Amino acid sequence: MALIVQKYGGTSVGSPERIKNVAKRVARFKDAGHQLVVVVSAMSGETNRLIALAKEIQSSPDPRELDVLASTGEQVTIALLSMALQELGYKAKSYTGGQVRVHTDNAFTKARIEHIDTERMRADLDNDTILIVAGFQGMDPEGNITTLGRGGSDTSGVALAAALQADECQIYTDVDGVYTTDPRIVPEARRLDTITFEEMLELASQGSKILQIRSVEFAGKYKVKLRVLSSFLDEPGAGTLITFEEEDNMEKPVISGIAFNRDEAKITVRGVPDKPGIAYQILGPVAEANVDVDMIIQNISTDGTTDFSFTTHRNDFARAKQILEDSLSHIGGASVTGSSDIAKVSIVGIGMKSHAGVASTMFRALAEEGINIQIITTSEIKISVGIDEKYMELAVRVLHKAFELDKEPTPLA
Ligand code: ADP
Ligand code: ASP
Ligand code: MG
Repeated sequence: MALIVQKYGGTSVGSPERIKNVAKRVARFKDAGHQLVVVVSAMSGETNRLIALAKEIQSSPDPRELDVLASTGEQVTIALLSMALQELGYKAKSYTGGQVRVHTDNAFTKARIEHIDTERMRADLDNDTILIVAGFQGMDPEGNITTLGRGGSDTSGVALAAALQADECQIYTDVDGVYTTDPRIVPEARRLDTITFEEMLELASQGSKILQIRSVEFAGKYKVKLRVLSSFLDEPGAGTLITFEEEDNMEKPVISGIAFNRDEAKITVRGVPDKPGIAYQILGPVAEANVDVDMIIQNISTDGTTDFSFTTHRNDFARAKQILEDSLSHIGGASVTGSSDIAKVSIVGIGMKSHAGVASTMFRALAEEGINIQIITTSEIKISVGIDEKYMELAVRVLHKAFELDKEPTPLA
């Protein structure tokens, strides 16, 4: 007997029919003698609908009230799935995040899970009951409802698996595993049998929405056995397993996957004096306004002045630009310019650590398509470029081809 946590995403519970199918799958695992905790998302489109409703009332909705509203999507699906299981003759009980004591901080709309009490869940499991838990939500120290950020049900699933020391956390979604890139953009993308934790973390942090980044962080911290599988296939196979072992890098392909993110914006402060402290003068006020900065570039100065560019989330573009315009005379710059339609495309692979020439292959492939790179950042296992958003899909396809990700990798000598 194993304790298994399963998470089903929005598309997988998108209609009563699909909820009944999920119930059948859960029942099969129960019949095999396992204990089950099932985490569900809201029906697909529901969270967007709720947020849009809020915006019809308040142009920037009060975060506490927004969480009260957004968390209702998951409250619908837990009850429906529990009913579907009862109809099949199983003992099932639904719980909201607060009810199973998913304790979070009080950062409404992007709360972090701090602790989960497992006693109540254990009692139900020992009583042969299937637990259905609302993803994406918890409660803060004052008992307020909080939500965990978009895609947060993945994190609920993995965090519950960690707290319960489950044998496995299975993330069921509308694709049958983690692919070399989003198969909606590149139909030739290939499913990976395994991906290392480091690579998955990097892909998630660079925008791949197959797993929310915090779920991957939890899996790493608590060594949760994490697998991504299809909820649509009767026989989902083994999907993709996130691995933690140190593998032999020589056996790995140089690039494992490509992630992209369309939500970036770029701001350039022109003609700033090239002197110590200038980066701080520019980014200090931006950070104080809680605007996260992603990629940064500073040009070599010619006449003692330089241009300084950085990217930020598109939603923060107008605010960040205004802050810099207000402090321009203090910084001593000439002007602030920017564009809010930047996309970031990142290639990720552990094999990069031990192989040269990856960047040049990337840059050549983009150059051959006439795609201008505006900004570059690298880490040990990734290279990201900021480009005009209109070339994003082309860039992903071209890079997928250039690194031959559609083909089974041959071990590198
Ligand atoms: P869920 O509602 O089940 O949480 P999501 O829509 O959040 O599902 O995530 C699944 C989607 O992630 C897929 O339909 C796919 O379009 C997208 N995706 C992005 N990158 C990848 C990737 N590398 N491998 C597989 N799917 C990916
Ligand atoms: N329903 C939430 C969202 O749409 C959480 C999730 O699906 O993971 O973001
Ligand atoms: Mg998701």
